[in-house]
Amino acid sequence: MILILSENADPKGRDYTLLMEALHGLPGIQVKVHRIEGELRAVTEVYLIGDTKPLVIEEMQALPCVERVVRVSEEYRILGRHRDDSRPSHFEYQGLRFGQDTLHVFAGLCAVDTPEHVEQMCRALRDNGQVCTRMGAYKPRTSPYSFQGHGRACLDYVFDIAGKHGIRVIAMEVTHESHVDEIREALRRTGSPTGAMLQIGTRNTQNFELLKAVGRQQEFPVLIKRGFGITLDESLNAAEYMASEGNSRIVFGLRGMKTNMGDPHRNFVDFAHVPVVKRLTRMPVCIDPSHSVGTRARAPEGILDVMHATAQAVIAGANMVLVDFHPDPPTALVDGAQALLLSELPLFLEDVAIARDAYQRRAAAARRHAGD
Ligand code: PEP
Ligand code: MN
Repeated sequence: MILILSENADPKGRDYTLLMEALHGLPGIQVKVHRIEGELRAVTEVYLIGDTKPLVIEEMQALPCVERVVRVSEEYRILGRHRDDSRPSHFEYQGLRFGQDTLHVFAGLCAVDTPEHVEQMCRALRDNGQVCTRMGAYKPRTSPYSFQGHGRACLDYVFDIAGKHGIRVIAMEVTHESHVDEIREALRRTGSPTGAMLQIGTRNTQNFELLKAVGRQQEFPVLIKRGFGITLDESLNAAEYMASEGNSRIVFGLRGMKTNMGDPHRNFVDFAHVPVVKRLTRMPVCIDPSHSVGTRARAPEGILDVMHATAQAVIAGANMVLVDFHPDPPTALVDGAQALLLSELPLFLEDVAIARDAYQRRAAAARRHAGD
């Protein structure tokens, strides 16, 4: 059961103390308080864990400071959608709204290689009206002998250059808890010219200690990729791990599944799950067409498979697109084979806009017919 406290609930106030006394007196119930610092206001949610069936909603509702009560099912307690659950399906970060109703494109480098390429990438984004990007500094690679990313060494120039070009959020994978501190310190050092969305890669979806560490901090929102060899339920529970530690500003990312059934794509594209994740949870859904398709193959009419897969997800309501571009793919140190060219950015964005428009028209038609 979740108690959502009224906006002016003061943890030092008398009403709050009375509430806590009442809750701690409930037999067999564990009380966990989450304070979610939003851009506009802070929300306090109190989780009651244990056998909450005997608790009467109206009685809980009548306790001091309580604004609303949500009885949750066992699944995805914090992030899930529950009956009579009007909790939001969006969050704000860096002045941007990330929700199940918005769409942001994060085009950028799979892996940062040189400051010149970061500069060219960010300039192209600015010229095309973009304020988000992806920049990999810590790269989890299959072979220990492959380039592992520049790590901490590139952070200052990445943040400086991105900020100079008006980039507000950079999606950046972390593979270890210490990377979060490195990112935080580099942002402070450079005067916070931009923001970061921490990325949990598909290989780390069930790295529970990393999930807990990223969940304990509330400064950065998190993009968690679906694990490429586990069920959707297991991946959604991985997101719930972070939320249970306190950070529920989470975007869920689909990036394809590991199986030969999807050949000749690098992974089996799983974007039919976009509406499924939106139905089961309140998380915005991201898709990564680059790591799922993995090639620059083109269909007979001339459209790249990467763009087809993107459009298929956007027309189904995807909220974020994480996509690899590179100014000079043959020299890219990671995943050059799937990178789009900077000259393809205007077409990519136009294609996304066409699919988004079609999605909005489809949703409007569905609403119209529901009223018939
Ligand atoms: C990435 O986005 O750079 C990446 C490595 O993705 P994934 O974890 O989905 O393989
Ligand atoms: Mn990659």
